Amino acid sequence: MPSDSALSIVWIYPDLLSTYGDQGNALVLEQRAQRRGIQTETIHVRSADPVPETGDIYLIGGGEDRPQILAAQRLRRDGGLHRAIARGAAMLAVCAGYQIMGSTFGGEEGQPVDGIGLLDISSSRGPARAVGELVAEVDAALNLPTLTGFENHMGVTHLGPGVRPLSRTVKGVGNGDGFEGCYAGHVVGTYLHGPALARNPALADLLLSWRVGELAPLDDSRYEALRQERLTTVLQAS
Ligand code: GLN
Repeated sequence: MPSDSALSIVWIYPDLLSTYGDQGNALVLEQRAQRRGIQTETIHVRSADPVPETGDIYLIGGGEDRPQILAAQRLRRDGGLHRAIARGAAMLAVCAGYQIMGSTFGGEEGQPVDGIGLLDISSSRGPARAVGELVAEVDAALNLPTLTGFENHMGVTHLGPGVRPLSRTVKGVGNGDGFEGCYAGHVVGTYLHGPALARNPALADLLLSWRVGELAPLDDSRYEALRQERLTTVLQAS
């Protein structure tokens, strides 16, 4: 059993939303916490189970249209995620998981489906599937390096006044309006797969710092070299 003080990472609905290795986001958080001597426990919450309210960082991933609709229905009925965020938990929601956080998103035929209303966003079907590499410059207030990842989605996302864009797209589609993702409080939504936190360790550290405060620096030189290689290759190809 983990100790009471372990940082609790909650992976929501591995049985419905876990495309493109998004579950790797949990591994990255675990590893970056543990390298700093912070104990972690990771809870996998299947869709038949209640979402605990006392977690520290909640993660939800991408998925196909049908599981996305089911996940939205179950999360709304459950209410645990709302209570956790109200208690100050942090969250990273990716792609289908990102769209679910809003008021509506597009279903299998593009029909509007109710989201869970945790973020002031709404999504609908875009003109074409967005597939490929994404590069984006993060909102200066967050003080993070360039984001990299890949996207694969039909939806476009409209941001309301209650959220800020996470980043401005340099390559790729993202929300469909020149921006990629959004954030409000300690909740971040993004279209980035990769997994997002493996490609962008600084984003992992931002989520961790929201729960544990200032973090000791890590030697990321090996990962940083890979990041720079990828960014250069992607940007040169565009
Ligand atoms: N079904 C959603 C869309 O196409 C999300 C896709 C995904 O999570 N990859 O926009």
